[in-house]
Amino acid sequence: MTTIFSKIVQGEIPAEIVYQDEWVTAFRDIHPQAPVHILIVPNIEIPTVNDLTEEDVIVAGRLLWTAKLLAKQEGIAADGYRLMINCNRHGGQEVFHLHLHLLGGRPLGPMLAR
Ligand code: AMP
Repeated sequence: MTTIFSKIVQGEIPAEIVYQDEWVTAFRDIHPQAPVHILIVPNIEIPTVNDLTEEDVIVAGRLLWTAKLLAKQEGIAADGYRLMINCNRHGGQEVFHLHLHLLGGRPLGPMLAR
């Protein structure tokens, strides 16, 4: 099954892509929760963190590396930002194509709602 994020990676549906290389694609979240809200996804379909294999270690590292590059590019590196990955039901995952949220541009408050 092709995910909506795979369709974005392949250019089949529109998105505001801010970065793409052979491993990952990054685009702005359609419902931003902060002034900067970017999703960084592997170009290959990996549904959840639970599905990562040792062969995916490089692509998983590239998610983090891309977040670092984009935080600088977006001008939020010095003030800081949050990186988040939701997994399955308790994590609140909605799209089953692994993605790293990069959030910033304002103080983000406590990590979880109290
Ligand atoms: P999660 O709850 O971690 O699975 O987050 C899924 C995220 O994908 C949400 O923040 C959505 O707003 C975002 N999203 C869903 N569809 C699209 C889309 N077509 N383009 C950009 N972001 C999307």
